[in-house]
Formats: sequence, C-alpha cells, structure tokens
Amino acid sequence: MNAAKIILCSAVIAVGLLLLSRPRAAASPLPQPVQQAAASDSVPPLVVTPRMRRYARTGYALYFAGTLYGWALLWGVLASGLSARLRDRAEQAVKNPWARLAVYYGLLTAGLALAQFPLAWYGGFWRERAYGLSAQSFGAWLGDWLKGEAVTWAISVPLIMLVLRLIQRSPRFWPLWLWGASVPIVAFGIFLAPLVIDPLFNKFTPLPPGALRVRIEQLAAQAGIPHAPIYVVDKSRQTRTTNAYVTGLGASARIVIWDTTLQQLPSDEVVGIVGHEMGHYVLKHIPWGFAETLAGLLILLPLTARVAGWTLAKRGARWDLRGMTDLAALPVFLLTVSVLSFLADPITNGLSRRMEHQADAYGLAATHNGPALARAFVYFASHDLSDPNPPPLVKLWLFSHPPIGERINFVLGRKNALPYGT
Ligand SMILES: [Zn+2]
Repeated sequence: MNAAKIILCSAVIAVGLLLLSRPRAAASPLPQPVQQAAASDSVPPLVVTPRMRRYARTGYALYFAGTLYGWALLWGVLASGLSARLRDRAEQAVKNPWARLAVYYGLLTAGLALAQFPLAWYGGFWRERAYGLSAQSFGAWLGDWLKGEAVTWAISVPLIMLVLRLIQRSPRFWPLWLWGASVPIVAFGIFLAPLVIDPLFNKFTPLPPGALRVRIEQLAAQAGIPHAPIYVVDKSRQTRTTNAYVTGLGASARIVIWDTTLQQLPSDEVVGIVGHEMGHYVLKHIPWGFAETLAGLLILLPLTARVAGWTLAKRGARWDLRGMTDLAALPVFLLTVSVLSFLADPITNGLSRRMEHQADAYGLAATHNGPALARAFVYFASHDLSDPNPPPLVKLWLFSHPPIGERINFVLGRKNALPYGT
C-alpha cells in the first residue's frame, strides 16, 4: 500500500467517524440506570446539550483532520524536494554533524510548526476560549506553545543523532539496538519528566494543612505512600478544566492536584478523584505502562525500519534522498512512526481504558463514596465538556478513559463495593 492509499483510507475513516459523530435530533439524556440512580443518590442528572455535542464533534474533527494534515505536510516536504534542499542548506552552512542535524531539524521543525500553527491556534487557544475552558491570554498561550516546540526540538536532536549512529553501525539490527537504548529513555519520560519538564510550565506548592489534606494523607497511607508530598499545581494559569495525578515510584511518588479542582469541586469530589489516582499507583499502572510502552516499541521499531526502508527504496531517488542515514530522509521516519502509531491507537487506548476502569474500582473501594465520584464525573461532562457517550468508533480510537456515562453507571452501580480484588 503506498502512502497516497494510506492517506485516502485515513480520509475515508475520518469522514466516516465525523458522520457518526453528527448530532442526533434532540438532546438525549444518558442511559436509564444513571438517571434512576441519580435520583436516589443526590447526583445531578446529566443532560447532553448541543453545546457539549458541538465541542465533542469539533474535537474529533480536529484530531482526525490534524493527523491527516500532518501526514500530508510530511509527504509534501519529501515529494517537493524541500527536505533535500534543507539538507543541502545545512551542509553548506556548517561542517559538524551535530550542527548540521540541529540546523536541518531546526528548519524542518520551524516550517512544520508554522504550517500547523492555524490548527494549533484553533484547537489549543481559540476553541478553548470560545467554550470558556481556557484562562490564558493569546500571549501566554503563544509563549507556552513556543516553549513546547523548543523543548521538543531540544529533546529530539540527540534522539535523532542516536538513531542515525545506530543505523550507521548496524544497518540490519539497529531497531533492536534502538529498543535497548529506549529502555532508559522511556524510563526517563515516565518517571522523571513530571519532575523535570512539568516545572518548566507550572509552579508546584504544597497543599496547605487542613481537613482536605488530612483526608488525602489517609488515602496515601492506605496506598502505601504515607510520606508522599502532596502538591497543588497552578493549572488555572492555562485552563479552567479540572484534574489530579500521582507520579513517580516509591520515594519519588508525589500527589498533584490542579488548583482548578480545589477551586471548583467540593472536598468529597476531590477526595474521590485523588482516590482514583491512588488506584493507578497501588495497581502499579506506572510500571505496567512502562512495560507496555517497551513491548509496543519492540513491534513498532522493526516495523518502522521495514516500512521506511521500503519507502526509501521506492521513492528515495525521486525525492533526492541518499539512504537511511541521510538527514533529508527524516520525514520518512516521522511519517512512518505517525501512521503506525495512529493505527495502533485503538490497542493502546483499549489497554489504557482497562487501567482507568480498575482505578475507578479502587477509588470507589478506597473512598466508599460512589455518589461523590459520580458527581465529579457529571462535572467533567457538563463543565469540562468530556463527551459522556461518544460514538463507538470514536471511543475505540480516541478514548484513553472509559466514557463518563459508563463511569457514572459503574460507580453508582456498586454502592456497597467490597475492597478491591475480593
Ligand atoms: Zn486515571
């Protein structure tokens, strides 16, 4: 299958999904059990409004259209010969291989970022403002966006150099060597990035003493991390949506609550959300996620080598590329990884939804307060505009969490939950 066919198939899938996610005739309430339970558990009913539908639909359109556009751009950079010209420019400008890579990849990144800016602006800034979910001025958003692009560039340059060196040394087995090298890199990403990267964008301060802190400390003790620091992060600088998370392992474990969550939700709901996050820690989802990522890479990397090698053999000469280790061939790899990851999304999201469901079960058992969790979920749907009932294909492809409707049913249906695992 050539890339044109891949893009065509993706377009057909995207259009199909958009049609499926079209608004239904009238705002329909959630499936019966939620509303029945809502009446008896003081959980407000959840009515899906046209505004919620519009936000969901534009989000899905943005995702699929953005993915296709990204592929088209990479293909265009190759087919137009632009990639080869950027390489020539970098080779004329500097001698050192690191500098050449930095210049070539800097120009490529800047060009792609510029071409994708309208979508980034619409999805990251305008749409969030229009729905009242963003708290940022355009300048602040732009600053964060530029910082994000710069951090990605700085992390990518040494990674690309590593890949190039490995291909040079072992043209046949480089995917396996790269997989070995990816173990510490992925470990850094999962365990250390929250401590190193996140503070570049936000400030973390300890949760002040008080009744809420005592309750969260009790949850932490139950989870086996009684001394874990509890932080509040100033996400209100960027957003009005709510969240919390637990990161790290053992001594590095830390509980982080978005300040928006504290400002907008009552203590019971906050404790319910933190209970869910504790579930991820207790059930070892962080190390499991690490293992799953490595297993995925063990499939993705050799497959990428195959597909990229095949594409280069077929089109390399026409695109003025000199082979696998040519800087100008980089978009071939970026495109291949992007397409393969997209195709794997239903699997990775399915695994993630399973873990999220287990964390809900843990949170429910740990807090014994299904209605509070259900009220938090209703808030996620009505305020944060999380689609409570996505079309099945959208759920399959995009949802890393079970849809809110399913989660509310679950936490309300298990009012007398037994401890987890019994
Ligand atoms: Zn979770």
